[in-house]
Formats: sequence, C-alpha cells, structure tokens
Amino acid sequence: MREIDLHVHTTASDGTCTPRETVRRASELGLRGIAITDHDTVSGHAEALSAGMDYGVEVVPGIEVSTRYGVSVHILGYYIENLIPLLDNLVNDRDRRNEQVAALMAADGLPVDYARMKERFGKAIGRPHFGRILVELGLAESVNDAFNRYLGKGQRYFIPRRTIEIGPAVEGIALSGGVPVLAHPFQYKKNDGELRELIDCCMDHGLRGIECRYSGYDHDQVRYLESLAEEYGLLKTGGSDFHGDNKPYISLGTGMSGELDVPCAWLEPLREEAEKLHRRLVSQEPSSSAE
Ligand code: AMP
Ligand code: ZN
Ligand code: FE
Ligand code: FE
Repeated sequence: MREIDLHVHTTASDGTCTPRETVRRASELGLRGIAITDHDTVSGHAEALSAGMDYGVEVVPGIEVSTRYGVSVHILGYYIENLIPLLDNLVNDRDRRNEQVAALMAADGLPVDYARMKERFGKAIGRPHFGRILVELGLAESVNDAFNRYLGKGQRYFIPRRTIEIGPAVEGIALSGGVPVLAHPFQYKKNDGELRELIDCCMDHGLRGIECRYSGYDHDQVRYLESLAEEYGLLKTGGSDFHGDNKPYISLGTGMSGELDVPCAWLEPLREEAEKLHRRLVSQEPSSSAE
C-alpha cells in the first residue's frame, strides 16, 4: 500500500482533477497524505485542506515554481503560507504570455478566446490548457501531441514566459513560509558534478530538500539521490507529478508503472522543518541579544 504523494497538480493549475476530487482519489487509494503542488499558485489549497478533513487525508499545502538556472529548474515549496508579491507576479506574467498565445491562434483563424478559457480553466492557465483546446479542435491527437507539434519550444505557438531566477525563487518560497525542495533532479540532464553545483547554488539560498523519488525514476537513480540528500543534510521528498488526464501515464501515488513508493515517515521531518521556518518568520525577538 502506498503511503503519501508529495507532488500533485489539480485544476488550480494544469491538472484535470479538482482539489477535492484529487483528495477523494487519494483517500480511495489509501494514501495517508498528499501535497498539492500547483504551478505558481496556492489557489487550490483551501478546497484541498477542507476535503482532507472530510476524507481523512493529510493535505500539505505546497507549490511548484519554474525558475531560471540556464535550463528551467523546478522548486517545490511545502507548507507555504502567503505568497510574497515576487511570486504572485508570476501569475500575471503567465497571463500576459497566455494572451499572446491565444492571439496567435486567433490570428490563424482558430476559435480561441482567452477570456473564455479563464472562465473554464481558472486563473493559472498553462500550455497544457492550450493543448486541450487544440485536441478539441481536432488539431492534435493528445495534449502531448499538441506540445510536440504546436506548443513546445520552437513550435508555432511557443511563446516563452518570464520566469524568476532560481536564487530569488528559493528565497521567496522560504519567505512565504514554504520549505524549498529541488524537484525531479534528473529532469535537467546534469552529470554528478553539475547536479552538485545546482544543489550548492540552491543551498546558498535556503534549499532544504531534494525530491528523491519521482515517477519513472529507477532504483539506482533513487539510491543516488537519497545518498546525495543524506550527504548534504537535506530532507528527502517524493511524489508522482500527477496531472490527471493531461499526463494520463502518471498515476496518483504510484507513478508511471507502480515504481513510486514514498514513505509516510518523510512527512514528519518536512512538517517540523516548516514549523521551524514559520517560527523564525514570525518571531519578534532579535536574532541575537546581549543577555
Ligand atoms: P507553461 O508553464 O504554461 O509554459 O507550461 C509548462 C507546463 O506544461 C509544464 O509545467 C508541464 O506540466 C506541462 N507540459 C510540458 N510538456 C508537456 C507535455 N508533453 N504534455 C503535457 N504537459 C506538458
Ligand atoms: Zn504541470
Ligand atoms: Fe516540475
Ligand atoms: Fe509538477
């Protein structure tokens, strides 16, 4: 029986299950806890937390932020409270980019209306939503196909989004009360030395953990990441990156082919780290005193 899943997207960003539906599914699967880690937004938290109470699933309010470090590196933030304005602005930048994508499609004669998309999909719209529309218009066979042919880098409807530098993102997450964790480290195609450089850079800005278990990562990869986390004194986390029908090959809790297994024991140190962080953030006492 799987225990927890600490990397989950909902309709608050580009997943296809609502926060409540996601928590209900987690409970059906027997999961004890899940973290809601939508892209750049905390808007799914309230619904997920309330569903967590109803279904007896521990819900960790989280976020996933795409940052700039040469390639795009994703940072997770767990137990995040209030987004500082720096992070909140990302959603507006996303909006601007989305408007341009919709205008490009409309100029090609496609019936795409961004205002209507927001009514349907909510605030944090991403390329996967455009992918769904292209599928519905019969221009692509799947969201993935839409990325390959229209939305991926270099394709007709690709417009880059303004992103935040990795350092300020890690710091911004911590200042927002979130425990910053490096997401899916193998996605960046780095060798051991390069990955260590990335971790060092993040740690300079307050990184507290590494996502060691992830959909598709095999035993050797997981062992390597866990030993890195131990060596650096970082917390271990793990999750599926579930997106519902937008990534149908990923299952909540179990990953791509049942390989994912995240122990419940990883939740407590994460919670304790968040509590420490929150205490430090709200503390009125000077950090050093003469007494
Ligand atoms: P955006 O942040 O709007 O530029 O869109 C990027 C998001 O699209 C990523 O965070 C992924 O979750 C998603 N994505 C990237 N490639 C694919 C794909 N081939 N199929 C489905 N979703 C994808
Ligand atoms: Zn996503
Ligand atoms: Fe990611
Ligand atoms: Fe993700």
